[in-house]
Amino acid sequence: MTERIVQTIRTVPELRDAIAARRANGATVGFVPTMGALHSGHCALIERAAREHDVVVVSIFVNPTQFNKAEDLEQYPRDEQGDANAAASAGATICFTPSVEEIYPTDFASSVRVRGPLTETLEGQERGVGHFDGMATVVTILLNVVAPDVVYFGAKDAQQALVVRRFTADLRIPVEVVTADTVRDADGLALSSRNARLSAGGREQALAISAGLQAAAEAISDGSATSPKDVAAVGVERLRAAGITPEYFAITDAETLEPARQLSGKLLIACAATVDGVRLIDNLTVIANREAATANR
Ligand code: AMP
Repeated sequence: MTERIVQTIRTVPELRDAIAARRANGATVGFVPTMGALHSGHCALIERAAREHDVVVVSIFVNPTQFNKAEDLEQYPRDEQGDANAAASAGATICFTPSVEEIYPTDFASSVRVRGPLTETLEGQERGVGHFDGMATVVTILLNVVAPDVVYFGAKDAQQALVVRRFTADLRIPVEVVTADTVRDADGLALSSRNARLSAGGREQALAISAGLQAAAEAISDGSATSPKDVAAVGVERLRAAGITPEYFAITDAETLEPARQLSGKLLIACAATVDGVRLIDNLTVIANREAATANR
């Protein structure tokens, strides 16, 4: 990867000015919001944005309002210099690294809430709806500040991407939302900033998450499971065999996140589990009732 220069900006007015100057020259803007500790999954989003746009803004902001546990927020990995280098190498033009006060001044009093199964199931049920309120609010702020043509999210956080699609459509925020495939290590583990906190043994154990999702997807494609309940049982069994009790292992409609009633159409298989004290999530999207259920990897 070639080393490139990235401009680091910490305040909203400076960011608006920098983007306006480039827009004046006809540039299009792609945006990748992150919480930092950048890995190849983030970099794939940045590289795609760089292929598709003249200017790529990467925000690095560990958003306190979407954490429901103080220790999770405290333990969240931070590496500003490493992130700036990784973002630059992947093709970012601007790194926006605001302080908490820059995003939430003392008189800040607003919130964006998406109602219904999109926020109340899966992560919303486990982490509380406040998690998605926090995410939706900060993403709205960032979209208002960056005003990109396209914003990029990872399928790894499928529910997050669906929530963003919902509120950008509802609130008429003029941006295209792209959801890019999950990037995995060769052994299947979905890349996550949290993986750095896994011990070698924990990492080995965590492989059961992607393996369980894959086993569930195969049980759909080979017809060995005939109901969503059977599919979930296949995945849960794979996790249990590795000593993991999932917080959830759910089969839902891939667009609405309502529990799947039957094995047909586009389904999301989603799992959350704590391994080695680290909370991990992963998912696969499958098309049921086709010759081969294709995973989004
Ligand atoms: P985060 O920093 O964890 O909030 O993630 C920032 C963005 O990167 C989100 O859109 C995530 O879905 C995406 N992302 C995180 N991990 C991966 C991955 N393994 N593959 C693809 N995208 C990812």
